[in-house]
Amino acid sequence: MAEKKEHNKNVNFTENLVAASGGKILEEAAPLWRFSHFGAEKTGFRHCQLCHSRMKLWLAIRNTSNGVVLFIGHDCYDKLVAFLATKKLESLSLGSRKQYISKIKKYCKQNINESFLAWFGEQTAPKELQETIKFIEKFGYAPTLEAAEALVLFYKTTRRFPLDELLDYTSHRALVLRALFSDFSEETNPLQREVSLAEFEALDLSFADSLNYEEVDDGFFREALRKTHPGDMSLGKLLSSEILSLWINDAQKMKSAIVDEAWKRAVIDLQKRIAESQEDYLLLPFWEGRNPTRGTPQWESRVNGKKYVLARESSYSISEGPVLTRISRELVPGRVFLVSKLALRPSANSPRYSWVTW
Ligand SMILES: [Zn+2]
Repeated sequence: MAEKKEHNKNVNFTENLVAASGGKILEEAAPLWRFSHFGAEKTGFRHCQLCHSRMKLWLAIRNTSNGVVLFIGHDCYDKLVAFLATKKLESLSLGSRKQYISKIKKYCKQNINESFLAWFGEQTAPKELQETIKFIEKFGYAPTLEAAEALVLFYKTTRRFPLDELLDYTSHRALVLRALFSDFSEETNPLQREVSLAEFEALDLSFADSLNYEEVDDGFFREALRKTHPGDMSLGKLLSSEILSLWINDAQKMKSAIVDEAWKRAVIDLQKRIAESQEDYLLLPFWEGRNPTRGTPQWESRVNGKKYVLARESSYSISEGPVLTRISRELVPGRVFLVSKLALRPSANSPRYSWVTW
């Protein structure tokens, strides 16, 4: 009995859909129909225009070729999308229709989330996409796989994110990229440029795999990188291994000039400081002596009746001859002084040289 009823429904479904499609056979007619919008309970439509069953909720489908709109129940809608997927109607069990719907649900679960829907709420998206969104908000899944895919495609090509947000936070690639561009301003930092998910998927960031984190985290190199910026071009091109290898090459060439410049600046700075407080800085040769109380060996020097003892942290060898030192402490007032050796050291994080005592 139930089977007979189902069979009659299928006959009505086929006849009515074919008629509304201008007499084409079902295989040709069905693909012309698209989900258009859906309706609520309080409506004049009580019977499905395909199978004539009473319906509580209805959907509108529209024929893309002749513009005809039909108001149908969810059963017939499921039947239509399942027919499109399987090209079977008579033998189509409720089970396989459900299977098709669960396929749509799975796709939606994987690709459409809260932030996705919230973003869509602020867009002026094409009308059919907005209808799909309404459908998802009401039922939790899209009317068809095709509709869901169209939505995801629009999202992926339209919504934009700073590149940095899309990078897998802890990956070597992300670490290297962040190190490379950490001295860039927000406006010029390639990682702050916005891309769509589609553009991100097309980016080839594999060049970063071959770069050593310690090498790119060098302040002199990063300064050189900023100064050799190849200028305006698309992110995909800028971050391509082709452009990046040229860019890095140029930066490495420029780095030596930046190192020289920083060295000179540090020397000039120190000369100024020495000029301001000459009595603190001395050029001293050392020889081996002994600590008068402990008897332990120490490096010492004598100039104009004053004795200078090299701090134990400072290393020294006779072959160095006179070295630049700074008085750090008076050991015996006016007579014996503790001094530290001064050395120029590259700064780890910025393109500078600093004088350090050691
Ligand atoms: Zn129906």
